[in-house]
Amino acid sequence: MIEVKQDTDTVNPEEIGIVNDMVLEFEAMSSNEGLARMAVAAFIAPLNPTMEEISDVKTAVSEAVTNAIIHGYNNTYGYMRHGRQAGTPVHQGRVWVRCRIERKTLQIEVEDTGIGIENLDRAMEPLFTTKPELERSGMGFAFMEAFMDDLEVDSEPGKGTVVRMKKRLGTGSWLMGEE
Ligand code: ATP
Ligand code: MG
Repeated sequence: MIEVKQDTDTVNPEEIGIVNDMVLEFEAMSSNEGLARMAVAAFIAPLNPTMEEISDVKTAVSEAVTNAIIHGYNNTYGYMRHGRQAGTPVHQGRVWVRCRIERKTLQIEVEDTGIGIENLDRAMEPLFTTKPELERSGMGFAFMEAFMDDLEVDSEPGKGTVVRMKKRLGTGSWLMGEE
């Protein structure tokens, strides 16, 4: 008989001095946005994040990945344009999502090798969008900034864009009487 042992205890990252990382690479298409959100949520699960932290991280990842797909590679298939499905499916390029956890700090990088951003200051202003016809509101960077502790963007026209974000997790743990 095979004995299955299940460890239901929550991993305490402070105890094991956790350093963990992962890389996810996928085709730049809208249907992979959910994959990125779920993968990052699953990756941070052992840190016992709060529901709010999970939601913040998923939103920030979605915004960065969507930007890579629709702006970086101009692959608008699967998104709405004037109330209708936009674009046609085409092979566009790759998106990389790199995550690293050190202690309780999560670092996320979302990279594309698409068109890049010419004027970064302007692009990061709330409500600025180059795709109003796709019902974009120009709030992606503002959300990333609001939901994460740190946001840095590196971009070069014609080369691509890297979005780097950081967030300290476990800030709700005082509710559990920890820390
Ligand atoms: P929303 O995110 O609200 O749907 P949006 O994507 O236009 O709208 P932001 O996410 O704030 O708004 O991005 C602002 C602008 O920066 C975009 O309209 C686009 O011109 C540019 N941009 C953002 N990410 C990239 C990228 N990865 N590659 C090229 N351009 C980008
Ligand atoms: Mg956006």
